[in-house]
Amino acid sequence: MLGRQGAGKGTQCTRLSRHFVVPHISTGDMLRAAVKEGTEFGRKAQEYMSAGELLPDDVIIGVVEERLVKDDTRNRGYILDGFPRTLSQAQSLAEITAGQPLDLVVDLDVPTEVVLVRLASRRVCVDCGANYSVQVPPKHGWTCDHCGGDVIQRADDTEDAIKRRLAIYEAETAPLIQWYEERGLLMVVDGDGDTDAVTARLIRAIDSARR
Ligand SMILES: [Zn+2]
Repeated sequence: MLGRQGAGKGTQCTRLSRHFVVPHISTGDMLRAAVKEGTEFGRKAQEYMSAGELLPDDVIIGVVEERLVKDDTRNRGYILDGFPRTLSQAQSLAEITAGQPLDLVVDLDVPTEVVLVRLASRRVCVDCGANYSVQVPPKHGWTCDHCGGDVIQRADDTEDAIKRRLAIYEAETAPLIQWYEERGLLMVVDGDGDTDAVTARLIRAIDSARR
C-alpha cells in the first residue's frame, strides 16, 4: 500500500487485514515497537524518526525480510504498509519476494493539502498505536479507548517534520508509482472522504484485481 503519510494507510490496512484475514505488516509499527523496547536498532531508528528522516535501506530491508519469511505471510499472504518507500527498496523487495511476487500495489491517493490538515490534528496511543484526532478524541480525556494508554501528538507530527516527510515522499516515493505502473501492478484508489467509503473502494479494487 503506497500513499502519503496521513492518507489513512494504517487505518485502511487494519480494516483490509480483517476483511481478507491476512497479516498487516506495518514497518512503522515494527519500528515504534523497537523504539519503545529501547533496542539498539530502536535507538538508532529514533534518531532518524525524530528528525523526520527515512531509515537507511539496509536496516529497514532487513526488518521486512525477517517478517516475510514467517509462516503466516508465506501461507496466507499479507498487506505491506509503509514499505517500500524508494525505488531501491522496491527492487530489494522484488528480489526478496521473487518466489512469491506481489499481486497488487495500491496507491491510496489523497491530496497534499488534505493530509497536512489530517496530520497536524492526529493524536496516537503510545501503547497500541490507535489513531485519534483533535476532532475525534478518545471518550475519556486523552486516554486510549482500547488499552488505556496515553494518547499524544507524535514527536514527528509537528508541522515542520510533516512538511519534510511530504517533500521526501514526493521526491523518493513518487517514482515507485511509475515503476509499479510499468510492471502492470499499480491500482490508484481515491483515499479522500469517509473512512467506510474508502474501505469499500479498496475492497472493490482488490477483488477486481484478484479475479
Ligand atoms: Zn491504546
